[in-house]
Amino acid sequence: MSEPDEDLQELIAGWDGLAVVAHRDRPTGAWMFIALHDDTLGRPTGGTRMKPYASPAAALRDAMRLAEGMTHKWAAVGVAFGGGKAVIAPPGPLPEAERRALLRRYGKLVDSLHGSFSTGEDLGTTVEDMAVIAEATRHVMGGHGGNGELVDPGPFTARGVFRGIAAAIRHLDGGDLAGRSVLVQGVGDVGAPLAGLLRAAGARLLLADLDAGRAGALAAELGGEPDCRIVPAAAVYDTECDVFAPCAVGQVLNRETIPRLRCRAVAGSANNQLGEPADAGRLHRRGILYAPDYLINGGGALAFGLIELGTTDADELFARVEALGDSLGEIFAEAAARDESPLAATQRRVERVLAAGRGG
Ligand code: NAD
Repeated sequence: MSEPDEDLQELIAGWDGLAVVAHRDRPTGAWMFIALHDDTLGRPTGGTRMKPYASPAAALRDAMRLAEGMTHKWAAVGVAFGGGKAVIAPPGPLPEAERRALLRRYGKLVDSLHGSFSTGEDLGTTVEDMAVIAEATRHVMGGHGGNGELVDPGPFTARGVFRGIAAAIRHLDGGDLAGRSVLVQGVGDVGAPLAGLLRAAGARLLLADLDAGRAGALAAELGGEPDCRIVPAAAVYDTECDVFAPCAVGQVLNRETIPRLRCRAVAGSANNQLGEPADAGRLHRRGILYAPDYLINGGGALAFGLIELGTTDADELFARVEALGDSLGEIFAEAAARDESPLAATQRRVERVLAAGRGG
């Protein structure tokens, strides 16, 4: 491992973000980093990730990268928040009582910023964890801290992805979802409700999950064969379908998998789907329509942002989330007119929104 202090200095010196809050939790040895990337549109806001990292620098690097991603996501979905993200890096797994105490101390750290950062769940944290953090600060999104209600972002994210998939099909041939095959990779908090929405719209489902029992149970619940089949997790990249919906892990679209894909579009919830930015071009050259991940999966963030800004009506929240499908439709059309990847069109939109926010 390289010298952590040196790496931290280099990272901070090389970052174009606003600031980094760093704290070492003495009782557990965990590091906490809150990366504040940009406040052009509003106060930096983003999830709290919790997992062990190889070094404090690796944890900070992740927080910075994710905070920058949040700047883009808020601009893309059109809610007035800035980019921020936090990482808690414990040395290893913690007993439940210690973990809760750590989360409470993290809540105090967030609270000490007096609203300069607000947060929600991310990889390694749950809605229940957010309730613990909310014992120490009111700057937790999604209805926590107020009436104590726990809001699950999954169904909102699923609704946005569902509309995004429908927009992709419409863009490709003007049709709807009836009879189309959609391969859902990962049937967890987002993938499962997404599968339900797709099935209700008449799509044929191919379900894959590392947890084969979970995929099997969902397939049975949604009617089973022939319209709802299970695909082995290892076979997803070689399976023919109209739409591939990655809803599990990142970096699934890369040099190795893209040539194997047998779909017309990729549209799913997973974060960081591309192995590298050039993979968007690889998909485009193969004629596969790509729905940029941070736009199509923005439904949870959008709903949480709107709740934070005072919208409580569920129908209104879902309507705003569903409008992500319209945004994607516009992006697909703009990209097609320029013969470019939808990622390029989305990035231009983000730049436009940020420039307008800066008054430029
Ligand atoms: P989850 O943990 O509830 O579900 C993920 C599912 O994927 C699990 O069932 C797991 O067994 C399965 N899985 C993991 N690796 C797999 C693989 N290689 N092949 C097949 N299945 C695999 O997670 P989630 O909350 O549903 O989130 C899914 C993805 O969407 C993640 O990338 C997440 O970052 C992203 N995302 C989620 C939300 C949200 O609202 N939950 C919002 C934006 C983005």
